[in-house]
Amino acid sequence: MKLNFCSLSSGSSGNCYYLGNEFHGILIDAGISATSIRKFLKNMDISMQTIMGVLISHNHTDHIKGLEVLTRKNNLPAFTTNKIWQSILSPRNNISRDCIREIPLMQKFHLAGFDIEAFPVCHDAPETIGFHICAGEKKITIATDLGHICQTAAPYIKAANLLVIESNYDEQMLVNGSYPHFLKARIQSDHGHLGNHQTSAFLADNIGENLSNICLAHLSINNNTPELVLQSLQQTFAERGIALNCNHQISILNRNMPTDMIKLGE
Ligand SMILES: [Zn+2]
Ligand SMILES: [Zn+2]
Repeated sequence: MKLNFCSLSSGSSGNCYYLGNEFHGILIDAGISATSIRKFLKNMDISMQTIMGVLISHNHTDHIKGLEVLTRKNNLPAFTTNKIWQSILSPRNNISRDCIREIPLMQKFHLAGFDIEAFPVCHDAPETIGFHICAGEKKITIATDLGHICQTAAPYIKAANLLVIESNYDEQMLVNGSYPHFLKARIQSDHGHLGNHQTSAFLADNIGENLSNICLAHLSINNNTPELVLQSLQQTFAERGIALNCNHQISILNRNMPTDMIKLGE
């Protein structure tokens, strides 16, 4: 089975990911403008007609900015939990009510040839979910906004062949940076974001044979750099005597432009 993944944009200014098989595709989050999403897909020769829906992780703007237009102009069905819909829908936005699809937590549903399961993660929104997506033998897990990896989320993250996981901030940059105290505390809390060392330590403790692709996502513009993310990962693995070898393809997702397509199946 042909299976392609790419990030169109990843970070605190906008998140949108694409996953496609030979027939169809889905988007995960719509945190950049619908115009940018259409443009990026077109540049990759992906027709908007093949996109069967968008999965929404939570109500923060960096995940739903383009949602209104995608539902209005492209009539694209959008999938998230009842609680997240309640936190998104308001008289101020103009999301097409015809495109609203409610999904349960931790129960598989089928879309575009994928079996998808939403699992809860800890983050400071009314509810936030990650997605575990099965396509034939391959498993993809996407968890981009979480303050820590709780016991419910961990098995979904460990089971992935392709993992998209947050590595939001360098701990030193955040502590020494100019953010006000309350914001630093919020980011570092169990309901904020994952720091580089937290993500590296979890990966070093849990990396298995099954994990072939690690995509480090949702980097902060002010408190992180791709170099620091990589350094943290290399250092943590070296300290524990674990080889970060060619069995694991590591990508650090760009903040403002699409990454190269990752091909998982043929
Ligand atoms: Zn976010
Ligand atoms: Zn968020």
